[in-house]
Amino acid sequence: MRIFQPDMLAGQCALVTGGTRGIGKATALMLAEAGADVAVIGRSSGEETVKAIGALGRKAKFYSCNVSDYGTVEAVVKEVVADFGKIDILVNNAGITKDMLLVQMEEADFDAVIDVNLKGCFHFMRHVSRQMMRKKYGRIINISSVAGLMGNGGQVNYAASKAGIIGMTKSAAKELAGRGITVNAVAPGLVETDMTKDLEDSGLLQNVPAGRMGRPEEISSLVTYLASPDAAYITGEVIRIDGGLAM
Ligand code: NAP
Repeated sequence: MRIFQPDMLAGQCALVTGGTRGIGKATALMLAEAGADVAVIGRSSGEETVKAIGALGRKAKFYSCNVSDYGTVEAVVKEVVADFGKIDILVNNAGITKDMLLVQMEEADFDAVIDVNLKGCFHFMRHVSRQMMRKKYGRIINISSVAGLMGNGGQVNYAASKAGIIGMTKSAAKELAGRGITVNAVAPGLVETDMTKDLEDSGLLQNVPAGRMGRPEEISSLVTYLASPDAAYITGEVIRIDGGLAM
């Protein structure tokens, strides 16, 4: 059972980066359940997500795109607007990890994580916000992490990218609020996806008061609410969903 009406986002177009798997796929499906058409961005195949959205009676299309490439993102955003007419909701979710202790971390692994997680988020905000400004409406939700709030050993690159997303979110929120555009960040804790499949037995769960990992849909529920017209007065906010991990 969902708290939202099935037509809450009817007539709206959402763009979800990293919508092929994990949190992004769950979010693309939930936004479609709430009535939105969805542009799914990823590097591999998004056919499964697109098919599942089609089964919900909504329009969906997959765009192969490396979010770290500024020019490709610009072209893809133009293509999405041509296909769907507009973008009302942007979910910057694509992300990677390349964990290593600080003293052993290669420059290339630092750069790769910043390029995808932080610059990817900038690239889409940069190109999508312009057309949101024209129509004076938009919802941008950036997926950060508790690592960006509290740090995490072995994740200097990842934590820097996720903390950077928070600063970028608040700055963009200030710039865009007057145009009817909200910009918020969601900071998940440990969520059951491919990204964390090797962590389940690592003992990290001992630090989670809820005693379990989160499910992708638990992140998507909040994202869907923040994407709704009802969330108009929430902007520049960072909301943890972490079973109490970072409190
Ligand atoms: P995931 O299952 O590994 O999925 C990552 C998604 O990002 C995939 O759809 C992948 O697409 C896409 N992606 C990666 N690099 C990309 C690139 N260069 N260009 C385009 N797409 C790219 O990860 P997840 O756990 O769902 O994570 C989603 C977001 O939540 C990430 O930003 C992550 O940092 C954040 N997060 C996750 C957790 C957690 O515990 N899982 C906790 C906090 C925050 P392809 O499959 O096509 O490569």
